[in-house]
Amino acid sequence: MTAPENVQTSPGEPVPPVFSVEDAVKHFPVRAIGQRRRGLVRAVDGVTFSIHKNEVLGLVGESGCGKSTLARLMLKLMPLDRGRVLVGGRDISAVTGEEMRRLRRSMQLIFQDSLSALDPRMRVGMSLEAPLAQHGIGTHGERRMRVLRMLSEVGLDETFYERMPAQCSGGQLQRAAIARALLLEPSFLICDEPTSSLDSSVRAQVLNLLIKLKNRFGLTVLMISHDLRVIKYFCDRVAVMYLGQVVEIADRDTIFSSPSHPYTRALIAASWLEDLELATSADAFRGEPPSPVDPPGGCRFHPRCPMAEARCAREVPELKPVGRKQLSRCHFRDRLAPLAPPAGVESK
Ligand code: SF4
Repeated sequence: MTAPENVQTSPGEPVPPVFSVEDAVKHFPVRAIGQRRRGLVRAVDGVTFSIHKNEVLGLVGESGCGKSTLARLMLKLMPLDRGRVLVGGRDISAVTGEEMRRLRRSMQLIFQDSLSALDPRMRVGMSLEAPLAQHGIGTHGERRMRVLRMLSEVGLDETFYERMPAQCSGGQLQRAAIARALLLEPSFLICDEPTSSLDSSVRAQVLNLLIKLKNRFGLTVLMISHDLRVIKYFCDRVAVMYLGQVVEIADRDTIFSSPSHPYTRALIAASWLEDLELATSADAFRGEPPSPVDPPGGCRFHPRCPMAEARCAREVPELKPVGRKQLSRCHFRDRLAPLAPPAGVESK
């Protein structure tokens, strides 16, 4: 079922989205060793949301919840089983040939692993020039000048043009990977855990760089992360995913002050508990995430939810509005009080 995601989630006049995902579904058949029955990984299972121009939407959830599969569907790197992805109102499944090439150029992906963007056997400058050459942009001299200018934009001097990736630190490699993505002048950027392999001091520098570049080039961004600090620092709105579904979506301040889904509360509480090194909390998770193969019936979060009632195991909750700015997939979304950090923890 298509969720009513287009409820206005920011004040003022609604702005038409530049990117929309409508009821996206992607399942992968699997068969465990020694088992005869095939299971189904419901990696993405009826996801709907949209992103507005110059907005940063955060997509947060635990590993394996479907965030990265969703990113690949949005870039048409794999086909949808059901649903639509719309760019500027156009269904990208109908876009082919030269038009798809132009569209791909306008949508770039930054990975966690910067070496997946840079060939370890090539000098950084040549790796950065490669996509320009593939798109037939400029002469070799012009491409070199563009690369040198972009290296400067990301805070790397011209000596990096000649360096091998093995001669760069993790932060420098990630800066080079960001430069490579931006050289094609995209309007839409998907950042898939771009800082999770970096030390915390370098992480802040790379995030600040992304904010600067986002503003300088007028980018629209989808930021995928399991780290709530990254999401809170960088994003305007936040979508929370659990086992292939969006369970809550709202603007950043609302999500962090008044989460309306127990899973969102548990994620925030878990980040506080990390600070306090505590083991329990009323809002904390119970147990490990279930397998995405044949997930629990009813509400998928019910085996771990501290608020679960009998109804939760029977009835699938829909993503429905809570007030004007928020959507939640919980039968009891109106029961949740605002969330405040325990004494001794700064709100993050
Ligand atoms: Fe918890 Fe029930 Fe809400 Fe699911 S529907 S999040 S189990 S209270």
